[in-house]
Amino acid sequence: MLCPNCHGSHVLIIDSRTDVQYHYKRRRRQCKECGARWTTVERIAGKVQLRPMEKDIKTPVRKMEDLNKWAEIAKRNGIKHSTFLSRVNQYGWDVEKAATTPLQKRDADT
Ligand SMILES: [Zn+2]
Repeated sequence: MLCPNCHGSHVLIIDSRTDVQYHYKRRRRQCKECGARWTTVERIAGKVQLRPMEKDIKTPVRKMEDLNKWAEIAKRNGIKHSTFLSRVNQYGWDVEKAATTPLQKRDADT
């Protein structure tokens, strides 16, 4: 950020304060070159996608990471990404099984 007074780039943050309730952060800044002081406010732009606050809120995230990890393994095993996904999503397979079971002619039956 440049100084609004002299457009110098040596700007110090002399104080910062987070407003927890309103989710924004105020920063008191001072220009090292001309001494001008001003405040900036950092806040969330746009709408926040609310998520239900579940106790095990970390679980879906971890599952997602696992899914990506296993998708990689599936690829290395010569299993198409679409096959891997349909095994998991359509047939309810365990991700590990979906990524490591070799392709069969009649996948849908297993
Ligand atoms: Zn300045």
